[in-house]
Amino acid sequence: MPKSIEIRTPDADTLRITKEPYYHAIREEKSIFEAAYRAKVPVLLKGPTGCGKTRFVSHMAYQLKRPLITVACHEDLTASDLIGRYLLQNDTLVWSDGPMTAAVRMGAILYLDELVEARKDTTVAIHPLTDHRRSLSIDKLATTLKAPEEFMLVVSYNPGYQSIRKEMKPSTRQRFVSLGFKYPDPKVEATIITKESGVNENTAAQLSQLAVNIRALSERGLEEGVSTRLLVHAARLIHEGIPPLSACQSAFSNTLSDDSMLQEAILQLCQDYF
Ligand code: ADP
Repeated sequence: MPKSIEIRTPDADTLRITKEPYYHAIREEKSIFEAAYRAKVPVLLKGPTGCGKTRFVSHMAYQLKRPLITVACHEDLTASDLIGRYLLQNDTLVWSDGPMTAAVRMGAILYLDELVEARKDTTVAIHPLTDHRRSLSIDKLATTLKAPEEFMLVVSYNPGYQSIRKEMKPSTRQRFVSLGFKYPDPKVEATIITKESGVNENTAAQLSQLAVNIRALSERGLEEGVSTRLLVHAARLIHEGIPPLSACQSAFSNTLSDDSMLQEAILQLCQDYF
């Protein structure tokens, strides 16, 4: 028999963001997020991969001075992974808080990235945190935690990426207010590229225009257009001295598609610009 039970939870100070993450606001997402935080309304960030959702949450966590706990959801992620589990260490039974329990205890911002990827039982755990109860039930500790004022739940969802099987159910979706994200317009995207990579404005403008054209290839079967993240990656290679065409070929044509026709089409677009 174990001699005692110990509860382990992370230190909130290690989860604080100490340096302001650069985030270029696109519309009124900051004021809506702040209002949702004050009003204790959970937020759903909806948009394609690499368009700034994660960066936005870390920026807001910094602004609101809250610790941030991020979970990249995947198909094996269960409610227990989020809530916590017992471990036996020597003669001590240790309860180790999962990220959701830790976030509730410390009044953090909990960001569940791609929530629909997770197992279904995770939604059961989330629901009481998203309504007037604002509570988390931990059966294994025979307790229910009431979320403090500062706790906020944020989830993300990429509508273009999920299979129909993994669409977010209305009963879950309607618990959130949604902020729609899309790739910024070329002028703003060029500013972000310059700031994030150090390339000059001219190169950044060419990359952002090239992105507009690559994204238009969705009509020819390209599953997802080039993300802002990938543009920044290409720009960083250029900043490191890689010739722009080689950088674009590595970052775009090889990454975005395995289809040789599409790769060729992307490469041709790159050649138009570099
Ligand atoms: P997502 O979470 O939507 O997949 P990220 O937030 O990780 O995407 O964004 C990917 C990268 O794109 C960031 O690391 C950053 O370099 C850049 N980025 C995209 N949008 C913005 C923005 N509005 N302001 C600053 N950087 C941005």
